Amino acid sequence: MFYYPGRLSGDSFVFCIEVFDEEQIDKATKQIHELLGRSYIFDSHEVVLQCRIGYSVYPDHDTEAENLLQKSHLALFHAVNKKIDTVVYSSGMETQGRHLLTVETELRKALSNKEFVLHFQPQLNLLTNRLEGVEALVRWQHPEKGLLYPGAFLDDIESLNLNSQLDEYVLEESCSKIAHWIKIYQRKITVAVNITAVEFQDPLLVSRIQTLLFKHDIPAKCLELEITESVVMTDIKTGMNTIVQLQNMGIKVSIDDFGTGYSSLAYLRDLPIDKIKIDRSFIQYVSKNDSDVTIVKAMIKLSHGLGKRVLAEGVEDAGQLELLRSIGCDAVQGFFIAKPLTEEKLAKYLKRR
Ligand code: C2E
Ligand code: MG
Ligand code: MG
Repeated sequence: MFYYPGRLSGDSFVFCIEVFDEEQIDKATKQIHELLGRSYIFDSHEVVLQCRIGYSVYPDHDTEAENLLQKSHLALFHAVNKKIDTVVYSSGMETQGRHLLTVETELRKALSNKEFVLHFQPQLNLLTNRLEGVEALVRWQHPEKGLLYPGAFLDDIESLNLNSQLDEYVLEESCSKIAHWIKIYQRKITVAVNITAVEFQDPLLVSRIQTLLFKHDIPAKCLELEITESVVMTDIKTGMNTIVQLQNMGIKVSIDDFGTGYSSLAYLRDLPIDKIKIDRSFIQYVSKNDSDVTIVKAMIKLSHGLGKRVLAEGVEDAGQLELLRSIGCDAVQGFFIAKPLTEEKLAKYLKRR
């Protein structure tokens, strides 16, 4: 087999390989991974490299060099996004690629033009009957399409690896709002921010948050982070470290959508989490379905036993609220209490209460 190597740009390289059957393609890609994956010593540190491969085949996919290169690029794009080692080009990748290409420009513009806005959903403390805090929920005020909800753009954000940028944007905006509310209402309102796995595993997250608290001159107790079970499980050691550091700073961490992920009891026991948020799917029929009551009761008992508070998500009617109150749930959030509110509507809500 002959390898004709070249460098396309930055960390992007190309190999032109002559093969005679499928098996040889498989062998070639494996060999590239194996060669690159060998660790070496640099400056007395062990360095391990990794790569993703996207490829296309002449003449099956195209007969023009330029087009073959473009198709390999599309396959590589797919490999990087989906975190797959090797991906072969297939038709359909163009449509997805084109979509992401347009959306990437739009999303980057949205971040720099501050087209993302936050809505705030109140969380009610059932013991005191007072506001426990609000959850920041992002929306995209699209210049042509109007107000878009997370379901319409979070997948693209993830595919384009823009998770951290969005999370940092939301953190910055939330801290700025907290400072603003302290100034105009003399009220320290806690804001819970949803954090994705990539951002949570970033070793710079803690110092970034410290800088934000300092910059906006706000107390740490006004910021809460919501992570899902899978976020902690991605890398349990880093996750644990980060939570401990955040807790030492006075920032609370809660587990979002509890019950829908791994739900490992060991991590519940070991992690210094303050609150678990029971997913809406368990609350939906809780006042009508006996098995759901049993599950929710058990979740509350378990969490309390481990010294953690419990918030029920997606409370939509009085029946659910009363039942949750009667089984010792600490806090609730949902349309029955209030929908996610714009900043103006939140101000009115706060005045009414
Ligand atoms: P989540 O963190 O579990 O947020 C709760 C979602 O449930 C919100 O949807 C909220 O509007 C909705 N909800 C609240 N109460 C009720 C209810 O009583 N009934 C029903 N049917 N729904 C209710 P939203 O705003 O569309 O957000 C969906 C998901 O998008 C969030 O789930 C969160 O995972 C993600 N997300 C939202 N904002 C952000 C953000 O700023 N950053 C990141 N990384 N993710 C976000
Ligand atoms: Mg959440
Ligand atoms: Mg949730």
